[in-house]
Amino acid sequence: MVIHLNKNVNETKALELAEQVKSIHFFNGANHVLVTSSKLKELPASLQEYTEAFFPTSSDIQLASREYLKERRTVKIGGQHIGGNTNNTIVITGPCSVESEEQIDISAKLCVELGVKVLRAGAFKPRTSPYTFQGLGLEGLKLLAKMREKYGLQIITEVRDSTHVDDIIEYADIVQIGAKSMYDHGILKKCGKTQKTVLLKRGFGTTLQEFAQAAEFILSGGNPNVILCERGIRTFETKTRFTLDLCGVAWLKEYTNLPIILDPSHAIGYAYGVADLARACVAMGIDGLLIETHPNPKVALSDADQQLDFNQFRALYASLQAVAKSVGRTII
Ligand code: PEP
Ligand code: MN
Repeated sequence: MVIHLNKNVNETKALELAEQVKSIHFFNGANHVLVTSSKLKELPASLQEYTEAFFPTSSDIQLASREYLKERRTVKIGGQHIGGNTNNTIVITGPCSVESEEQIDISAKLCVELGVKVLRAGAFKPRTSPYTFQGLGLEGLKLLAKMREKYGLQIITEVRDSTHVDDIIEYADIVQIGAKSMYDHGILKKCGKTQKTVLLKRGFGTTLQEFAQAAEFILSGGNPNVILCERGIRTFETKTRFTLDLCGVAWLKEYTNLPIILDPSHAIGYAYGVADLARACVAMGIDGLLIETHPNPKVALSDADQQLDFNQFRALYASLQAVAKSVGRTII
């Protein structure tokens, strides 16, 4: 159950009440909020005089649920907003990894050319093999920060583990939690303590319930700026890298209040299908797209098969406008 305490309840009292009902506590800017187990269905009598509103929930998807917030949340990204009733679909692009200043600079220029507001690229890469490029680390973060200064872009980059979560929070405008890091509670809890926007990717073996509950760790820390990202799950199919779970996206739209961004690049794993998938995603009325692009995909140090070259991306980007318009959305 989510409980909004009366606005005149101070922090000391809120903490005392939280202890009484064994709940998590945070301040949402207006009210102290308590979140108990979802097994609690009736407001305890001892809390009645201190409570402004309460919301029983059917599972431990609580703060992310439509049972708590009927309206979808609005989250700031790229200097604009997605979710809520904005009807905005943000497009984010950039290479899988920062490889050099020249490579990230030319990628940033592509964003500027098309009016894309958010540049993506990983500096700490969670690779499947220890023998492949692991990312430039802090040097990569500094290059991304340089691109922000030079071109006025916002930067999204992923946190691989809790050893550098503070650096990512410091350098990035949007923190990406990758599919392989989605269960790292050190990362989730730290991200709950910042107000930066967090893009939480779904693990490829993660159920929708587990996915939304991972988001609860961030939300219940007091950070409301969470975006979910579907990036493909593992199925019996091996011809494509993963399977983009559009049914899951429909479920998330219906039952959660969080904006949803789709990543067709990692889902299919091959450049040939990315444009078709991206258009299908936008036709679903989603809040954003994450597309990997590289100035020369053939020599990319990670995810070479799936990155679009710049001309492929230009063509895709142009074609998205009409698809978005047909479902009442605007590409931002
Ligand atoms: C990425 O965005 O480059 C990435 C590693 O994604 P994922 O966590 O979805 O595999
Ligand atoms: Mn990648």
